[in-house]
Amino acid sequence: MSGTHAGKAAILGGGIGGLTAANALVRFGWHVDVFERAEGLPPTGTALGLWPEALASLGVAGLGGEAEKRGVLQTSGWFLRWDGRPIARLENLRRPAVLLSRPPLLELLSAGLPDGTVHFGHPAAAAPDLSGYDVVVGADGIGSATRDALFGPRFRPVYTGFTAWRGWVDGRAASLSESWGPNALFGITPRDGDLTNWFAAVRAPADSTGGVPDLRERYREWHPAVLDVLDRLDPPAVLHHDLYQSPPLPSYVRGKVALIGDAAHAMAPNLGRGACEAIVDASALAVLLRDHSVTEALHRYDRARRHRTQRLVRASRMLAGVATATRFATARNAAIRATSRFA
Ligand SMILES: Cc1cc2nc3c(=O)[nH]c(=O)nc-3n(C[C@H](O)[C@H](O)[C@H](O)COP(=O)(O)OP(=O)(O)OC[C@H]3O[C@@H](n4cnc5c(N)ncnc54)[C@H](O)[C@@H]3O)c2cc1C
Repeated sequence: MSGTHAGKAAILGGGIGGLTAANALVRFGWHVDVFERAEGLPPTGTALGLWPEALASLGVAGLGGEAEKRGVLQTSGWFLRWDGRPIARLENLRRPAVLLSRPPLLELLSAGLPDGTVHFGHPAAAAPDLSGYDVVVGADGIGSATRDALFGPRFRPVYTGFTAWRGWVDGRAASLSESWGPNALFGITPRDGDLTNWFAAVRAPADSTGGVPDLRERYREWHPAVLDVLDRLDPPAVLHHDLYQSPPLPSYVRGKVALIGDAAHAMAPNLGRGACEAIVDASALAVLLRDHSVTEALHRYDRARRHRTQRLVRASRMLAGVATATRFATARNAAIRATSRFA
């Protein structure tokens, strides 16, 4: 470390990771330009679980306590079988998670930035000459053009074998639950705005499913809380995506460019860690850029974040398999019960 460093940063992508990096770097005295291809912030979106490490990283970016104020604190939850019988309960989590939907999180992340920092309607390819910037942050999400430019199409995310639907219904769920059945799972959580967030994931070939009738058919014999959500959902508002994960990149850094978030390590959503890790990447990178020369900071960033996030990509996919296993469910449930006592 040699004093405090500041310079000029271009951030490609103004999503969760990009805007967190912008907040932290501005706080550390950097000039920042964010180039975001969307015309503005998204008006709708589903809830994200923000774990303690991500909440602490938001603090580093100058936004400590804000997500907690806007979101719903979650100190307990249930794992259930597909028929509603309990597998295990997580109780009195000492370090609770916060459930907050994407729009208020992005609003929070953009509110404190100086006017003119975020250039909406600017795809990365249309960004001005980047040679005048000391560092470029590739935060352009799962379909990252920045990653493609650095590492080529060989490192594009691959299909996890799962497709997911997400949405919300009126009225806040009393508690958080995730129900596990053969080849499928269903989650129900409270969220901001007195709403209930829900998500469903099933094993399926890529591009093979889609409509709400298909979704309802797959869960037709599940427990009443699942059926209640499926009855009440608004079909046009349901989001449906096949789920992809990144193959391990050889580095998150090339030259003066660093990849963060899904651009570097898209993962299955089963651990609820994708957005959290984008936030942690962003804050970690900003702190290193404050404390070191750009070359040294990027080297340290890759060392600090790559192996850990690549392990999470593998663990998330493994949990997807465990939750939807077709065999050994009794042994799995016993193991989850035992583990949850120590959570
Ligand atoms: C079903 C599901 C449930 C999830 N649940 C959770 C959860 O509970 N907790 C959690 O932590 N994570 C969760 N995630 C993961 C989370 O949504 C992502 O990991 C997170 O959004 C990644 O943040 P990011 O900033 O890397 O990318 P994004 O938030 O996707 O942002 C990328 C931004 O880059 C912009 N962009 C893209 N291309 C360009 C371009 N060429 N030029 C300029 N801009 C561009 C996009 O418009 C976007 O604004 C879930 C994901 C899914 C699919």
